[in-house]
Amino acid sequence: METGLKNRVAIVAASSQGIGRATALALAAEGAHLAMCARGAAALHETAEEVRRLYGVEVYTDTFDVSQDDRVRNFADAVHRHYGRIDVCVTNAGGPPAKSFAETTMEEWDRAYQLNLRSTVSFAHAVLPHMQQQHWGRLIAITSIAVKQPVLELVLSNSVRVGVLGLVRSLATQYGPDNITINNVAPGYTATARVKDLAEAGARASGRSVQEYESQMTADIPMRRLALPEEVADAVVWLASERASYVTGQTIVVDGGAYRGL
Ligand code: NAD
Repeated sequence: METGLKNRVAIVAASSQGIGRATALALAAEGAHLAMCARGAAALHETAEEVRRLYGVEVYTDTFDVSQDDRVRNFADAVHRHYGRIDVCVTNAGGPPAKSFAETTMEEWDRAYQLNLRSTVSFAHAVLPHMQQQHWGRLIAITSIAVKQPVLELVLSNSVRVGVLGLVRSLATQYGPDNITINNVAPGYTATARVKDLAEAGARASGRSVQEYESQMTADIPMRRLALPEEVADAVVWLASERASYVTGQTIVVDGGAYRGL
């Protein structure tokens, strides 16, 4: 399948590990030049070096917390100065802590909003004007199956991420005339560091061992296994590609069938 991504410029946020890292590698495999960010310099530079070595594309990096909107804006502007364009922007961040509602503090609610909703708004603000000028763009938000089906002990994620859906749907309507598609990829349980944290929290909350909890996680998934980060990345690549040119405002759930709704 010809994706049309060769020599496109793609921002991938929070891309030193996990789903973000797999997405960066998958876009680079299609020949896209990258701009990557994360908080920790060592892991980010290691991933960026791997991308360059494997695919020979250009990689621009910066280290910052995506909840700092001034840093997001400066990053996007620097990427545009560096490459002269921004074609694709994949928004991503860590997930909020797994806790029962009673355990959550108001500070954690504020932080979850900043991390998962406000950071998406910041990236959208920063990249959409550039995409409008080009009359071409792809904004893809990484959220969670929690936007379709609440996950036990993830009340922060279940609540805050739904706002991203509202944003995606609103922006898809507004920016369609600019030939910019705006979509959301919602992973189910995916084999990354994050899922280990979730299994530990779930085990604590349910009084089971981590191993028992992990077995239950996969037993509830029709495909009987976790997603690989690369499988989530493939959905992002498709949405970023020319092959998805008429798909906008949608949520693509990549969850092995775990979401039971119609
Ligand atoms: P991960 O913990 O493996 O990786 C998270 C990445 O985000 C890392 O590169 C980290 O450095 C970066 N990061 C975290 N907080 C950041 C911040 N404030 N600013 C900049 N970078 C930051 O997680 P993952 O499994 O790849 O998950 C990615 C997203 O997908 C998260 O929001 C997660 O909640 C969501 N998600 C994950 C799963 C799963 O099972 N793994 C399921 C559904 C949704």
